Amino acid sequence: MRDPDVLVIGGGNAALCAALMAREAGASVLLLEASPREWRGGNSQHTRNLRCMHDAPQDVLVDAYPEEEFWQDLLKVTGGLTDEHLARLVIRASSTCRDWMRRHGVHFQPPLSGALHVARTNAFFMGGGKALVNAYYRSAQALGVAVRYDTPVERIEMDGDRFVAAWTVAGERIAAQTCVLAAGGFESNLGWLREAWGQNERGEWPAENFLIRGSRFNQGVLLRHMLDDHRADGIGDPTQAHMVAIDARAPLYDGGICTRIDCVSLGVVVNAEGRRFYDEGEDFWPKRYAIWGRLVAHQPRQIAYSIIDAKAIGRFMPPVFPGVVSPTLPELAGRIGVDVATFTDTLAQYNAACRVGTFDHTALDDCRTEGVTPAKTHWARPLDTPPYYAYALRPGITFTYLGLRTDETAAVRFGGRPSPNLFVAGEMMAGNVLGKGYTAGVGMSIGTAFGRIAGTQAARAALAPHQPAPSPEPAHAVA
Ligand SMILES: Cc1cc2nc3c(=O)[nH]c(=O)nc-3n(C[C@H](O)[C@H](O)[C@H](O)COP(=O)(O)OP(=O)(O)OC[C@H]3O[C@@H](n4cnc5c(N)ncnc54)[C@H](O)[C@@H]3O)c2cc1C
Repeated sequence: MRDPDVLVIGGGNAALCAALMAREAGASVLLLEASPREWRGGNSQHTRNLRCMHDAPQDVLVDAYPEEEFWQDLLKVTGGLTDEHLARLVIRASSTCRDWMRRHGVHFQPPLSGALHVARTNAFFMGGGKALVNAYYRSAQALGVAVRYDTPVERIEMDGDRFVAAWTVAGERIAAQTCVLAAGGFESNLGWLREAWGQNERGEWPAENFLIRGSRFNQGVLLRHMLDDHRADGIGDPTQAHMVAIDARAPLYDGGICTRIDCVSLGVVVNAEGRRFYDEGEDFWPKRYAIWGRLVAHQPRQIAYSIIDAKAIGRFMPPVFPGVVSPTLPELAGRIGVDVATFTDTLAQYNAACRVGTFDHTALDDCRTEGVTPAKTHWARPLDTPPYYAYALRPGITFTYLGLRTDETAAVRFGGRPSPNLFVAGEMMAGNVLGKGYTAGVGMSIGTAFGRIAGTQAARAALAPHQPAPSPEPAHAVA
């Protein structure tokens, strides 16, 4: 068989966007997915939405979410650890990519109401991420993209900064004119997570208690290989990741979104010692949910408990599995194995500190605490209405931010110079935009924008290798 023009490594959203764009540009494309067909789609199969800029109401999106507001949100959550040029490129591309997505079979729906407050900012995929990747695979097949499952790639053959071939775990050498790396982060690699997080002051290895919310196939093999063996320019800190506090009963891999516990801002959270440790009402839940995994990771035994009373019921998406329920707070503490005296003292102090104004979970309301540390700055109401509920929480890692440094052409860089024919997209480069923190839906915005750029550039480099790389189209013009 003739070598493909473009080789795409990975089988999630970023890889599929790259493959489709390269094929549309006239290149022959081969996509290699590590997983079997039934698990195809990586973390992307678990997603629900992407964050979209828009200046006026647009199909499923209400009001406006202008570029500047999106940028300020990103700036705030990353604490400035972001590349403004690449971030704005992603933001602008998010305003125009949906027509292209629809052409490849993706359908959108308005969000359900709930604790996430995202009707204005996020477009939801009808049928979720699984339907999105299935649509892309169908479109890829119809366009003649070749796909091989069960084909993990183990290493890349390079000639200096030029891609030559990929080597599969089975020892097969696959050459191509150009290549897009879109093989995810290293969140599924428990050994690497253990090494990155190390041992804490209590002698614990925190990563041993992490759960992986998504695919087991994102082992970071090519990320490490490119950084260590080929000295590709890297970006990010290996301990930075999207980490959510999830139901402690979730499976080690692929628990997906149904393991989320979304009642944190409606109650209090205590650690294994029965003490509160962070402001549960700091901001709207979509702007804060991704810090709670990290907060729990720093607590003793990497476990915490989200505690609510009957007043919270009906105000958040209920978890799939019921929590522990008790008629009294001391009994609840006993049932979850937390020291009863400390727990009841913590709750008594919190309840006494609540200054209840007008409770409004859809606004940053004036219900707050006074004289307790940590404070709860919004939605603070005493937990006084039985029954009481407890949900055990563990750090659930979504995706890691350590990645390959890139630029507006999505090229992998070596010693500050872009490769002429090796490109990167998705989680493997998300750290360029997300140094830390998260705002809901931006993972898919990054993967879609850079997957499309990487595919376009890879096709151009394969079909017209001697032409200098043009800058990607101005984002407003991307259909
Ligand atoms: C539960 C959950 C919910 C999420 N919800 C959202 C959401 O609603 N909105 C949002 O924006 N983001 C969400 N995210 C984050 C989002 O999934 C990622 O940002 C995005 O999917 C990344 O796309 P990707 O293509 O880079 O990675 P992935 O979709 O993970 O794809 C990586 C692919 O590479 C393959 N692969 C790995 N190693 C190799 C190898 N060596 N050789 C060949 N193939 C390999 C994997 O099998 C996989 O197919 C969620 C993540 C999870 C886990």
